[in-house]
Amino acid sequence: MTATDIPIAIVGLGKIGRDQHVPSIAAHPRFRLAATVSRHATMEEVPAYTDLSAMQAAHPEITAVALCTPPQVRYDLAREALEAGLDVLLEKPPGATVAEVEALARLARERGRVLFATWHSRFAQGVPAARDWLAGREILSGRITWREDVRRWHPGQTWIWQPGGLGVFDPGINALSILTEILPLPVRLTGAELEFPENQQAPIAARLSLRAGAAAIEADFDFRQTGPQTWDILLETDEGRLHLSGGGATVTAAGRDLAKGDALDSEYDGVYARFADLLARRESEVDVTPLMHVADAFMLGRRLTTDPFVE
Ligand code: NAP
Repeated sequence: MTATDIPIAIVGLGKIGRDQHVPSIAAHPRFRLAATVSRHATMEEVPAYTDLSAMQAAHPEITAVALCTPPQVRYDLAREALEAGLDVLLEKPPGATVAEVEALARLARERGRVLFATWHSRFAQGVPAARDWLAGREILSGRITWREDVRRWHPGQTWIWQPGGLGVFDPGINALSILTEILPLPVRLTGAELEFPENQQAPIAARLSLRAGAAAIEADFDFRQTGPQTWDILLETDEGRLHLSGGGATVTAAGRDLAKGDALDSEYDGVYARFADLLARRESEVDVTPLMHVADAFMLGRRLTTDPFVE
C-alpha cells in the first residue's frame, strides 16, 4: 500500500460491477480493488466475502466501497458502510426512494464520510460540451428517445421488474440525469403514461411530458427495442438544434460537431476520477433530481396494462 493508494471493495458483483467498475478501478492510478462483497459471485485473486462486516474484519485497511447491487437493497448496505466509517460510491439510481438517499446524505455529513451518488451518463464524452453550448441559449422544445433491449442489457435480472426496480426507468433515468445536467433551467414533470406488463410490477415503457421554463420536452422510454439501440436527446433552441446521440457520446450543435464518441465508450473512468477527487477534498456529491423526476412520473402517471413480459 502506498500513501496515495485507495483500497476499495465492490459490493454486489454483478453485470455492472464486472463490466465497468472492475476495469475502471484497475485503470485508475489510485484505486486498488482489495475485496469483493457478494452473496454468490467471486473473482479470481481478489479476497471475497459475503457480507460487509466480515470484509471489514479481515481488511481494516479498506476505506471505501462501491455499491453495485440493485437499488432495493442499497440503503441498508450504504447505511451499514457509512456507520462502519467507510466512504461510499452508489451506483445509479442511488436508492429505491428519494427520502432514503436524503437520509444517507445526512448520515454521511454527520459521520464525516464521503458519499458519491453517481450518474454514469453524466460522464459521457459530449455532456460537458452540450452543457456549455446550452448556457445562455433559450430552449424552445425538446424530445428524448431512449429505447433499448431489456434482454440484452439486463439478462436474468428479475429485480428490475420488482417494486423499486424501476423497469424502463432504469435506463430512462440516465437520460434524465443528462437532461438535468445540461439544462440551465430546472425541469418539472407535468404528465406521464406508464405501460406495465400484466405480469410485472414495473413499467416496460413510459412517455413523459416535462417542462423547462416555457419549453415542452417529451420523453419516450421503451425497453422493447431490438436491433440498433436509441439513446437520443434533441433540444431546439433560439440558435439551432442541439443533438446528443449514443447516450451523450456524440453531440452536434447547430450543425457543428462538439463531440464524436462511441455509445459504448466507458463512462466509468470519469466516475472514478470524480470519486478520487471527492475523496481528496473530503466532499460528498448527492443529486437526487433524476430520481425525483422518476418518482413524480409514478405519482402523476396514468397506468396502462400491456402484454406480459417473459424473458
Ligand atoms: P446484476 O447483474 O443483477 O448485479 C447486481 C448484483 O448485486 C447481483 O449479481 C447480486 O450478486 C447482488 N445482489 C445483492 N442483493 C441482491 C438482491 N436482493 N437481488 C439481486 N441481486 C442482489 O445488476 P447490474 O446490471 O449489475 O445492476 C446493478 C446496478 O447497476 C443497478 O442499480 C443498475 O441500475 C446499475 N447499472 C446497470 C447497468 C447495466 O447495463 N446492467 C448499467 C449502469 C448501471 P450476489 O448474488 O453475488 O450478491
